[in-house]
Amino acid sequence: MENSAVTVAVRVRPFSTREKNEKSRQVIFMNNQETVVQHPDTKQNYTFTFDFSFCSINESDASFASQQMVYEKLARPLLERAFEGFNTCLFAYGQTGSGKSYTMMGFGEEAGVIPRFCEELFSRLSRSETKEISCHLEMSYFEVYNEKIHDLLVAKDEQTQKKMPLRVREHPVYGPYVADLSTNVVTSYADIQTWLALGNKQRATAATGMNDKSSRSHSVFTLVMTQTKTEFVEEEEHDHCITSRINLVDLAGSERCTSAQTSGDRLREGASINKSLLTLGKVISSLSEQAQSRKKVFTPYRESVLTWLLKESLGGNSKTAMIATLSPAASNMEETLSTLRYAHQARMIINIAKVNEDTNA
Ligand code: ADP
Ligand code: MG
Repeated sequence: MENSAVTVAVRVRPFSTREKNEKSRQVIFMNNQETVVQHPDTKQNYTFTFDFSFCSINESDASFASQQMVYEKLARPLLERAFEGFNTCLFAYGQTGSGKSYTMMGFGEEAGVIPRFCEELFSRLSRSETKEISCHLEMSYFEVYNEKIHDLLVAKDEQTQKKMPLRVREHPVYGPYVADLSTNVVTSYADIQTWLALGNKQRATAATGMNDKSSRSHSVFTLVMTQTKTEFVEEEEHDHCITSRINLVDLAGSERCTSAQTSGDRLREGASINKSLLTLGKVISSLSEQAQSRKKVFTPYRESVLTWLLKESLGGNSKTAMIATLSPAASNMEETLSTLRYAHQARMIINIAKVNEDTNA
């Protein structure tokens, strides 16, 4: 068993065309692990320290953080832990348009964490797989929208053009899972690319025409990796398995649950509040309180679909990292500060990870 804090990184994206046109000023400055927000009028500084502060504002800066750098610093260590048999999780948090999907999925040459992670996983396997060790990989990909789970790897019903939402069940030993979710065996990076293309297309199709759905849904990409080592002891075959569950999560836009959204008029609208995101905030603050007080605090995992499913990744058996994405512009400063406070709190969470082993003769 290994106690370890959640690794927290922040990343600031380049100015968008709109922010440039509005001549919005730059309020974020980074220096090594530090992120400083400078109020454009009062010049007051708000300073935060993270495991990594990735500055992706100007490609010409010496400290510019590329997709590859973010992958190497934040995700590659998780890949290494996964090979050792630990569960791992990375989630992206931030306001809509701040770069969550760019960081997690990216596109083309600018591939994000998920494709880079999968590609390296297979290239490592091709180097290490021998007769004695074999590796089995299963992939699933779903989204949570309005507390309903939709499989992104299953096409809609031909006739009704609808999909039945899936349910969360709890297994007495393995914990919460999505019942009837499709799991696909993948044997190459190309397999994953094919499934990802389908899933991303379904995610995008579902989002068009529906009032900003993409900003309100969470997507969860999961790989379950089982490595089996076969040994012969006195001519008897013994299998030793280690399993790792890898969750890579692109969350809904964080503006859905900040104080402005959850008080006053917005609260009465009801529908604009994202229950999973709100509960994630409660879970994070309860876990951070628990870590500071060293007393057991009630954590409301079961209050939302996402937190229930990610229970092990949050304060449980997993090596977990979070990346909070930010806009550099003064016009988004309030959201940026709220994202930074949230990320700061996540740094307090302690997870207790162990290697998932199973030996059978
Ligand atoms: P989110 O998923 O948080 O809503 P996106 O990832 O869709 O935000 O990013 C919004 C826009 O900003 C997209 O056009 C995306 O390509 C661009 N973008 C985000 N982060 C970066 C980055 N680090 N470098 C270049 N472009 C980025
Ligand atoms: Mg997105």
